[in-house]
Amino acid sequence: MTDDARTSAESATSGDLSGKVALVTGGTRGIGLATVRALAEAGATVVLTGRDEAKAKEAAASVQTGSVSGQALDVTDAKAVSTLVRGVAKEHGQLDIVVANAGILEDALLGMIREDLVERMMATNVGGTIHTVQAAARAMMRKKTGAIVVLASIVGEHGSAGQTAYAASKAAVGNVARSASKELGRYGIRVNGVAPGVIETAMTEHLGEEIIADRIEDTSLRRLGKPEEVAKAIRFLVSDEASFVTGQILGVDGGLVL
Ligand code: NDP
Repeated sequence: MTDDARTSAESATSGDLSGKVALVTGGTRGIGLATVRALAEAGATVVLTGRDEAKAKEAAASVQTGSVSGQALDVTDAKAVSTLVRGVAKEHGQLDIVVANAGILEDALLGMIREDLVERMMATNVGGTIHTVQAAARAMMRKKTGAIVVLASIVGEHGSAGQTAYAASKAAVGNVARSASKELGRYGIRVNGVAPGVIETAMTEHLGEEIIADRIEDTSLRRLGKPEEVAKAIRFLVSDEASFVTGQILGVDGGLVL
């Protein structure tokens, strides 16, 4: 085989995830479920999680392609995350891909932010992401390979009025990826993030028409994003196509300027 032919054959298969085992937290809807579909379509065996077991199983059953199963998990419970991740790795003999997607959004102007809102936001978005990345790293270290993606946000980079607690939590999530990538690179584990703009999911349904119109106006592509468009970026980051990419936060925001 010539060098050119080899390069062409490699690039034809490097986005393929056949034989890989993936875990997606918060996979019951929105970006998480779209990611589950994208990874399954690329050939991965996927385990998705949500807080409610029946909903998680229902979401898994809705994916027509590949092997997808659903399990209950609350990412705020560090012990539960560790047990589930170990269980998935044991059952499938390996764990190659983890997407720490589970997250919540609660808007509140600065003067209206209550302590319990801050606690919930930090426990889910920051704590949940750290627990998931930590458990993933433990499962991947021995094999000296693996890819992790976390869900940051454009508001974590730029801030957003009415979203101080959420923006703070998402800034932290970005730094979970950056810091973990520095620790885990020596084990062959890559850690990246995506920073979506405004994506059409249940999370953004509550935004009023005026805010949506403003956000579209501020977006170069003049529209909201679709969960599938974030999923494609995640699929790229966990694939061998991104084999030398780590510690990066990839904006998937249509050119939104906040
Ligand atoms: P959705 O609200 O549609 O979905 C959130 C998912 O997280 C659900 O599957 C939910 O599962 C799960 N979840 C929430 N809390 C927990 C918890 N404590 N433990 C386990 N799972 C939990 O959100 P999106 O799909 O829009 O967002 C996905 C990620 O992307 C989030 O991290 C979000 O912050 C981020 N993001 C979204 C943007 C957007 O515009 N939509 C923009 C930027 C970032 P269940 O309720 O079944 O337990």
